[in-house]
Amino acid sequence: MIPKGLSDDHFRRAASEIDLRGVAPGRASRHYDLILNGKSYPPKYIISLANRFAHGNDLPAEKFNAVEAKEYFLRSGYKVLDRRRQARKFVASQDEESAFPEGRECFKKHRHLERDNVITRKAKERRLAALGRLECDVCGFNFQSTYGDLGRGFIEAHHLTPVAKLKGKTKTKITEFGLVCSNCHRMLHRGPALLSIAVLKRVIRG
Ligand SMILES: [Zn+2]
Ligand SMILES: [Zn+2]
Repeated sequence: MIPKGLSDDHFRRAASEIDLRGVAPGRASRHYDLILNGKSYPPKYIISLANRFAHGNDLPAEKFNAVEAKEYFLRSGYKVLDRRRQARKFVASQDEESAFPEGRECFKKHRHLERDNVITRKAKERRLAALGRLECDVCGFNFQSTYGDLGRGFIEAHHLTPVAKLKGKTKTKITEFGLVCSNCHRMLHRGPALLSIAVLKRVIRG
């Protein structure tokens, strides 16, 4: 049972206490986050501490459960997030096709363009010859610097024009490709529309 007499002021004092001393061992929340001032707190532990400020003692953890705490806060108009639900919502499918914003056919074509070994190879060779290294156009990642010999000569080619705009065009030029690391390549394709390299650069810089 959650006692009566706990107020917003008590919850905020509990949150300040956590900001100051952290969450006590064993009192972290497994599933729920209470949002106060834009930060996440364990709902049960907040109630335990709020009870100290309202009634003089920490409410023992075994007196109530996490679901009661969550529902208590929701009923009182607070925001509580269920981490499992958040995870379901935000974790993307690993399947690249289903995540591709332009649809399945466009995905196939885009990938086909990027896997045209002759042209993408030329793009990489030209860059390597010009600069002496292959670096991601977005973040500057260099596979050889990180992976040594294993990474030498590796970078991914990304076709810069959204496939929908190609309209039956079949030939591609070297200049139509950007060279990006695997992480940035995935992120270029992850938004609701294909991102440009310039935009993703800005995303990284925040
Ligand atoms: Zn990158
Ligand atoms: Zn691509």
